[in-house]
Amino acid sequence: MFSPAIEKQRQQLYAQTAVDTGEGLRAAKEPTEIFGVLRGGMAAIEQTLVQTPAKIRASIACSAGCSHCCKVAVDVQAQEVLLAADYIQTHFNPEQLAGVIERTAAHRQRLAGLTSEARVRLIQPCALLDSVGRCTIYEDRPEACRVHHTSDADVCAAHLADPSVDLESVFIPALRARLFAVMLGMDSAIESAGYDDRSYDFGSALHEALTNSLCRVLWLRKRPAFSDACLAEVGR
Ligand code: SF4
Repeated sequence: MFSPAIEKQRQQLYAQTAVDTGEGLRAAKEPTEIFGVLRGGMAAIEQTLVQTPAKIRASIACSAGCSHCCKVAVDVQAQEVLLAADYIQTHFNPEQLAGVIERTAAHRQRLAGLTSEARVRLIQPCALLDSVGRCTIYEDRPEACRVHHTSDADVCAAHLADPSVDLESVFIPALRARLFAVMLGMDSAIESAGYDDRSYDFGSALHEALTNSLCRVLWLRKRPAFSDACLAEVGR
């Protein structure tokens, strides 16, 4: 339960983002314009973080190189995978690209046959994490990576080692409410526009996006972009 002030902010941010994204998608004709609208939504999450009162932001423990949250399953929607794939294909050299494809293929093999519960418990570094714990696609990282903050990295580490350690106790409600409102407003507009609204496992769908150019075409045609094998839950 949020205070009346935070609840009002949350509702305003959600509504404004849904309207802005919806209008942007309706006006966009070319794929580059459509992906531009999506990147605008991602930028709105960052802007909302910056505009959050300094007193609230001061409690954020997250910092560059801290990557506990990059070692657990990440659920995404198709457009987030396509943005990440686009970033990789335009910024990585052939050797780096081959490395990501190899690591995401290995990730898929590790997930094969796992139940949804086992997938959530699996601890393994994201295929996009570098050797010093930094995200190599930071500018186009998924929504979940943008909205996750805590006030105590030691609790994150303890939770990673033992899932019974309560992570929610170190969430920052006033910040989380604002960022989730923007994220959900954007997702709502994308779903209302008729685009793929299924929840995918990030690493699995990224492997398909990087190895099958049809995924992007399917998404633009408002059809499921990735195979059922990439779903976060169903079919596992
Ligand atoms: S995409 Fe980047 S921020 Fe997100 S889990 Fe992977 S390395 Fe971490």
